[in-house]
Amino acid sequence: MKDTSKHLGMRHHLALLLEEKGIKDKVVLDAIRKVPRHLFLDSGFEAHAYQDKAFPIAAAQTISQPYTVAFQSSLLMAKAGSKILEIGTGSGYQTAVLCTMGLKVYSIERQSELFKKTKILLSKLGFNPKYLAFGDGYKGLPDYAPFDGILVTAAAPELPKALLAQLKIGGKMVIPVGDETQDMMCITRKSATDFEKKSFGKFRFVPMLANKN
Ligand code: SAH
Repeated sequence: MKDTSKHLGMRHHLALLLEEKGIKDKVVLDAIRKVPRHLFLDSGFEAHAYQDKAFPIAAAQTISQPYTVAFQSSLLMAKAGSKILEIGTGSGYQTAVLCTMGLKVYSIERQSELFKKTKILLSKLGFNPKYLAFGDGYKGLPDYAPFDGILVTAAAPELPKALLAQLKIGGKMVIPVGDETQDMMCITRKSATDFEKKSFGKFRFVPMLANKN
């Protein structure tokens, strides 16, 4: 598959649509214009890649809706060069968006099929996350902590304690919390023991699962 001017045109439309839906962060919108989402989808869905929709990917998982990717990326409020931990690499699309925003990205995936496939794809497309880990997102990456931001792309039943502990003071964790539908929570670490919690509306994600390894 290739990236053509037709795809670029569709990405411009998608970025405009997301702006109309309330995404204001220019760095995020610019990344949406740059990352070739159609190359992260199975070829059957390529024609629909620039609709604002989620689609199935391998291992019964989903690639998040562009609006959700843009919304979560905006909530991080991360400056270029910040160190970000993503939970749920999945297709790698969100990872690529964060890399394009100039962030140092660490990402964890628990499905080996997706982990292997996405690692190859990201490198083939020229995206360079700092580290892609195969493992359990509930544990985070203590060896690489602390992080300026943590972005969780699967539904957590509650706030994972290990992840809160890996957040820098002043850092933010963006995480959908709940079962059937989730509240998009943004947690700011104010001090070693003080976490400010804000809620940003309802979303729907695949569940964050405990690891089987
Ligand atoms: N960011 C992805 C979204 C993928 S869906 C994208 O843009 O495509 C959520 C992903 O989280 C799935 O790939 C799922 O396998 C993964 N996941 C679920 N529980 C996890 C856990 N405990 N640790 C790491 N990854 C997990």
